[in-house]
Amino acid sequence: AACVVTRPREPTPLDVPVFYVLGGPGSGKGTQCAKLVAHYSCAHFSAGDLLRAEIATGSEMGKTISEMIKSGKIVQAETTIDLLRKAMFEAKAGGAKGPFLIDGFPRSMDNLQAYEAQAPKCKAVLFFEASEEAMTERLLERGKTSGRTDDNADTIKRRFATFQNQSLPVVEHLEADQKCVHRIDALQPIDDVFAATCKILLMASKRAASAASDMALTTRALLRAAAHARTAEKDAITLMLATAREAAWRRQTNEQAAMAAKAAARLRQVHGEEVAVLTEIRDVREPSDCS
Ligand code: UDP
Ligand code: MG
Repeated sequence: AACVVTRPREPTPLDVPVFYVLGGPGSGKGTQCAKLVAHYSCAHFSAGDLLRAEIATGSEMGKTISEMIKSGKIVQAETTIDLLRKAMFEAKAGGAKGPFLIDGFPRSMDNLQAYEAQAPKCKAVLFFEASEEAMTERLLERGKTSGRTDDNADTIKRRFATFQNQSLPVVEHLEADQKCVHRIDALQPIDDVFAATCKILLMASKRAASAASDMALTTRALLRAAAHARTAEKDAITLMLATAREAAWRRQTNEQAAMAAKAAARLRQVHGEEVAVLTEIRDVREPSDCS
């Protein structure tokens, strides 16, 4: 038999666009991520859920995490990053398609710097904005059934203080650093927040794909959404079509042309709207960055 010598390798790059999903406690990050996963090709990584899963293992590390969460503090960056990296690489190995949504992280400048030193930088940020009053009300309501040790009045106050002092500066820093931070009004009804989120995610995916010259991958991901189209998502489908057209324009393949035609057919079926797909592909304009 052949003798195979293995030696340690550099970690393979994740090679998937990453988006941070940020916002105060109770702003609806987890809810919106779950909806995105249900409708689109993307994967959701909740830092809080990963930390709670570590607590559930009963490890020593879990005990430390549990104390931090109960007091509304931020767990040491290395711990959260290890959990996130592991989850993301496992998902990638299991065939998960991007974009990857990192929910509830980075929560501090220290989190951000430690993460960006060893993992792919984010392509865009979804930032859910809501008043402290509304978020507190939601958390107290959730606390009735969530079983979470931090959904009580005392811990909620501490979580908001941490958010103001440590997490908001991350958003402000990313905004100043020309990252695409998209502020979303999270006080609207869930489906309206979702419609706004879809639009932004599709634009951001498109830009990320352009940058990575991986139009084919993203086009496929976006077009899959057509199969789940709902009236509220009409704008999203329209955007998706623009992406497909552009993909076809840049690097037309039969597969892409077929996918674009399929999306167009779906739009016609759901919304009774006629769209020309491949005949006018040269009219597609690049959306201005970060608009
Ligand atoms: N947490 C942390 N680092 C993270 C994410 C979460 O330390 O990157 C801790 C922190 O104590 C936070 C708690 O986990 O208050 C719950 O986070 P989660 O994101 O689940 O809460 P949400 O903001 O969604 O209500
Ligand atoms: Mg959450």
